[in-house]
Parts: sequence; structure tokens; C-alpha cells
Amino acid sequence: MLCGTGWESLEQQQNIVASTLAASPCNVLMIYPRFMADSFWNFSEACELVGARYPAIPLGLITVASLLPKSWNVRLVNRNTEELNESDLAWADMVMTGGMLFQQSDTLDLIDMCRARGLPVVVGGPDVSSSPHRYASANFRVIGEAEDIIRDFIAAWDKGDREGTFEAQKFQVDVTKTPIPRFDLLKFDQYLYIGVQFSRGCPFTCEFCDIIELYGRAPRTKTHAQMLAELETLYQLGYRGHVDFVDDNLIGNKKAIKAFLPELQKWIEQRDYAFEFTTEASLNLADDTELLAMLKRTNFFAIFVGIESPDEATLMAMRKKQNMKRSIAGSVHKIYQAGMSVTAGFIVGFDTEKGSVAQPMIDLIEEAAIPIAMVGLLYALPNTQLTRRLAREGRLHVDHDAAPAGKGDQCTAGVNYETKRSRLEILRDYRKILDRVYDPDAFCGRLERLAAMLDCSGRRKELPEGDIRGRISTIKLVHELLSRLPEGRERFWKAFTTCMSKNPQSVRAIVTLMAFYLHVGPYSRYVMKQIDRQIDDLEHGRFVAPKLLPPVEPEPLAVNA
Ligand code: SF4
Repeated sequence: MLCGTGWESLEQQQNIVASTLAASPCNVLMIYPRFMADSFWNFSEACELVGARYPAIPLGLITVASLLPKSWNVRLVNRNTEELNESDLAWADMVMTGGMLFQQSDTLDLIDMCRARGLPVVVGGPDVSSSPHRYASANFRVIGEAEDIIRDFIAAWDKGDREGTFEAQKFQVDVTKTPIPRFDLLKFDQYLYIGVQFSRGCPFTCEFCDIIELYGRAPRTKTHAQMLAELETLYQLGYRGHVDFVDDNLIGNKKAIKAFLPELQKWIEQRDYAFEFTTEASLNLADDTELLAMLKRTNFFAIFVGIESPDEATLMAMRKKQNMKRSIAGSVHKIYQAGMSVTAGFIVGFDTEKGSVAQPMIDLIEEAAIPIAMVGLLYALPNTQLTRRLAREGRLHVDHDAAPAGKGDQCTAGVNYETKRSRLEILRDYRKILDRVYDPDAFCGRLERLAAMLDCSGRRKELPEGDIRGRISTIKLVHELLSRLPEGRERFWKAFTTCMSKNPQSVRAIVTLMAFYLHVGPYSRYVMKQIDRQIDDLEHGRFVAPKLLPPVEPEPLAVNA
């Protein structure tokens, strides 16, 4: 049972933050910028099936909202789910915005729009923290985690400042003091799932990763009471259904998560499994049978894992040691046997790829039976070990940290550096993988093999009342998605009936993954068309290689401790 003292102490903490800060009222309009259109991650067709508008919530903004003085009024507009109205802008004394790299373009447009009407704008979030120079046009920049610097910003605002930069000391925020995010600002039915966060940081050292640069390598975790209070808030607000732990690696501090899961299990049992959980975790999760069983008992049903490459030399070079010296497919199967499906990330374009990686990657995705494989092109994200190395080697494109022009994400706009393998070969590999992996027959085959392995015993069969996914019954969902599928309907029907006969308990999970095909199937074909154009330009001498930044002086490799 959630302990009352935990709840109260968090409320008290919020009051302490609020009462020591400015009292003069202020209308704050929080605007979550649009992600670039045509992204792998928007799952727009799957959202449409249940009447949602976007998969994920703006958790960062509603966390910042919880840090503001109580005398300040907050409105939230998520540009991915709703229109920004003139009346919202007219109401606001200040706009707070910001997000990730693939929101940069809309964030910069918002800054211009606000400044043109004399409305002060504050930017923060991961991309601002990684590339503050891109946001010089904003009135205020909040660089790094907001908790420890928001007080300074509020004091500056209160004394009349209208410009400034506030930079947090890296990795110093005590997340046990972070108040409950303002979930009340959300319109739950706009989202496929609601995000919460238990930890920040990851102990691993993957070269391309910006998480360890933004949040450090020593995971900081919230207290059990604090985490349960967040979930209880959602529950009391009437939310039911899918909750995603947005942690970049939930098992980064195994001791901490193992201590928390029994508490979470008790809490969820007492609420009749009102929430089902997902998260991201490193592949070494498969080595810990006890942890797998704990996650299963706690109602986790899917995990995102970064697999990246089938090639050991490439894994070694990118410092993804946790994926080496193991059967990757066997590790994925262990997670299936613990009742959780796996969605995985793969990347093409590493220096160490010796010849084609296409077939080994396709083989691995098939052998592991991973239905949704997010295969992207390598993208040198700002402020990572990879980007620093490429900068030293003089291989970075001049605008490597600018949001890609036009639409898309790392699927269409990756490889923002001079490659060692021929760019043409990389793109051909990439296209071949997408073509084979998202062929309806291959996709359905993986679903059938997954269904044979997925242990769904003990899982609640019916969705809780109020769960957005319950708006459409499983059988209706199957008919709906079959009618929307542009091709391969018979193959999908066969996959459905095979899964029903092999493992009837897995059907809800399997049909959900089928629904995601409505997005990833057509999306993969869209990406292939874009890649075909790039290949054609390369083959016909039309590709103009972007200018490179001059090499920077070598510096000691900064891996955060
Ligand atoms: S395991 Fe994931 S979060 Fe951790 S360093 Fe690697 S890519 Fe980053």
C-alpha cells in the first residue's frame, strides 16, 4: 500500500520549492514542439486505430511545470497532438519550449514567432543542452537538468531580466527531490501511453550515445515512495493502461530496480493490474533470470533493447561490450520466455563494417524473431564520444548538429559525416535490410515464431476499464487492420490464426504488433524511396558531399564517471 507519508512529503517538497520562489503571478505557456514528420517513432496509424494522436507525452515539460511557483499559471500545448491557438499566445507572459534534435526545426520556428510578437521564450531540453549555440535566438536558455537552476531562472525573471543563460552542473541533480510531474496538464486520451521516469543515466559507454553525456554514467534513482506517488497520481487522475518507464536503461542500477520492483508488484496487485509497463533495457537483462521474473510479475510486457549490429568487431569499436560474446538471438528469446516482447534498435554505417552487413543483420533479426526492428543509419549526435572522434578526424559535416533539412529522422537523414565504407554501399545495405525485414511474409513469420516463445501465463486477459486500447476489441482490431493493410492481408490473417492456435494468450500482444505494422510497413517503403533517390544521386554523380569541419585538436576522451 502506498504510504501516506511518502505522498505527503513529496507534496511538502513541492510546497517548499514553490513558497521560496517568486510570488508574482505569471502565465506560462508550455509548447511541446512538433517532431519532424515521417518519423519511425510516430506510429501514427496505430494511434489512429484507438483514437490517440501521438504515442508519448512531453514528460520533460510537465516535470519542469512541477518546479514552477504555485502562483504561476501553466498551460500546455503539444504541437504533435493539438493546434496552438492565438488565444493561448495572447494569454501567455512567457513561453517555455524545447526538446530533442528532431524537434529543433519547430523549436526554432516557435522562438522566431514568439520573439516577433515580443513574447519572451525560454528553451531547454536535451537538444538545447547538447547544442546551445543553435538556440542563441531564445531569450533564455536552460542548459542541462532543470531542477537545480530553475530557482535562479525564476529569481532572474522576477527581478525583470528578459535574457539569460542558466547552466546546470552536470549530473548533480538529486532526483529524489524532483516533484511529481504535472500529469494533470495532460489530456490522457491523446496518447498511446504515459511516461514516467525512475532513473537517469546509464553505466555503459556506447560511443554514439548522448544519454551518458546528458545524464552521466552513475544512474540516479528516485525513491520507492516517490515513484509510487507518481503512479498513484496517474491512477487517481483516472488513467488506466500502458505506462512506459522512459529510463534509457531501467536496469542501469540493477540493485536499485530489484529493490523497487517488489514494491511496485504489491502496488499493482492492489490496483488489479491497472497499468501494464514497458521500458528500455540493455541486453544483459537476459542474463538475470531473477530480474526477468520480477519484471514479469510486475506486469512488464515489452522491452526496447539496443542491439545495433550483428558484428562483434563493430560492437567492440562502438564500446557496446554488453552485447558481445553472447548469442544475441538466444538472449532475446530468454526475454520472450519471461513474457516480454522485444523491440530492438539496429544501426548501419559504422567504420568497422567490413563489406556488407545487410545479410548478417537480416539473419539476426529473423533468428531473434524481432517483429519491430528500428533499423536506422548512424547519426553522429551532438556532444557524443563519436562526434568528438569524428571532429578530431575532420570527418564531421559542417551542419552535423542542425536538424536535417526537410522531413524525417536518422532513417532518411543519417550518415552526417564522411564515411569510411563507401556511402553508396552503406545505403544499399540499408535499403536491402528494410526491404527484407518489412516484407509482409517475413514480418508475419517473425510474429508466429515470437508467439511460440512468448510466455503470457499469468497476464491479465482483459484490459482494465478506461484503457484507451480497449476502445477496440481484439477481433475488431484484426478486421480493421486487415482492411487497412495495403498488401499481404491473407498472410496477416494466417499469422493471426497460427498465433491463436499456438499460443492463444499471446494474441493481444501479437495483434498490437500487427497494428504497428500499419505504420512501419508503409514507413519502410517511404524510407526506401528516399534512399533510392540518394542512391540514384550517388550513382549518377549528382551527390554533392557536404563540406567538412576542419579537424579539431585532440583532447582526452571524456567519458563521464
Ligand atoms: S546502453 Fe543505451 S543508454 Fe546505455 S550507453 Fe549504451 S546506448 Fe546509451
